[in-house]
Amino acid sequence: MIKVDRKTAIVTGGSRGIGKEISILLSKNNIDVIAIATSEESLKSIEGLENIHPFCCDISNEESVENLCSFVEKKFGYVDILINNAGIHMDNILLRMKSSEWHKVIDVNLNGPFYLTRLILKNMIKNKKGSIVNISSISGTDGNKGQGNYAASKGGILAFTKSLAKEVARRNITVNCIAPGLIETDMISHLSDTVRQGYLDKIPLKKLGKPTDIANMILFLCSDEASYITGQTFYIDGGMSLN
Ligand code: NAP
Repeated sequence: MIKVDRKTAIVTGGSRGIGKEISILLSKNNIDVIAIATSEESLKSIEGLENIHPFCCDISNEESVENLCSFVEKKFGYVDILINNAGIHMDNILLRMKSSEWHKVIDVNLNGPFYLTRLILKNMIKNKKGSIVNISSISGTDGNKGQGNYAASKGGILAFTKSLAKEVARRNITVNCIAPGLIETDMISHLSDTVRQGYLDKIPLKKLGKPTDIANMILFLCSDEASYITGQTFYIDGGMSLN
């Protein structure tokens, strides 16, 4: 039985896919989860779930992140867990990539975690403990055709994780990173059967991952059992990164 001595978590991108699964698993472990998404409409998917508190915030907007943090501090006090999960992709080969596509992806995937982490860190330092987990991607380590913007943002998250882990280790705060392979969510629903099969051929376990595969690891990384793990990147990809 994993022991999680934590009370309050912020999970960005909690309305769908991986973030929704993380929110549900943490909430089942008696953690109050503030689950973030961009609109009231998308947050309806988690309305009424026990221990889950939906909150509308655009993490790429600094003011919106400040509103989130003051709401959380007023209502819950300390934050023990931060999961920087929300992410988008706007794929294009670099020759055709618009500046707006580059900036939007960097804004959500890299600047968003920066704004939120910087604010929550102060709270965690006062609390004298904390677990931060950032969601990267194997695109961030290996690169991927048509994903220059996304890969740059996810590679950035990886380096951000290691730097922050070194900065805050003496404060009893751990910072880790998960690099998923292909996980069955809305994010990959646009892939054609041929492209899907192409990926499957490259995955040693011959199947796509599920959001629970990521959520289980998050729970472990936020538990007492993981208190000596920091600055690490965990690949959850069916062995895809071995190729
Ligand atoms: P998803 O199903 O597309 O869900 C994305 C989530 O992020 C939604 O809850 C969305 O909220 C939220 N979001 C998007 N922009 C936001 C913003 N500006 N502010 C706040 N929330 C925002 O994605 P997923 O597949 O679960 O992916 C989760 C994370 O894993 C992402 O960082 C992704 O890059 C990473 N990842 C996924 C895969 C995969 O195969 N699925 C592989 C590698 C890495 P709304 O509902 O309001 O849009």
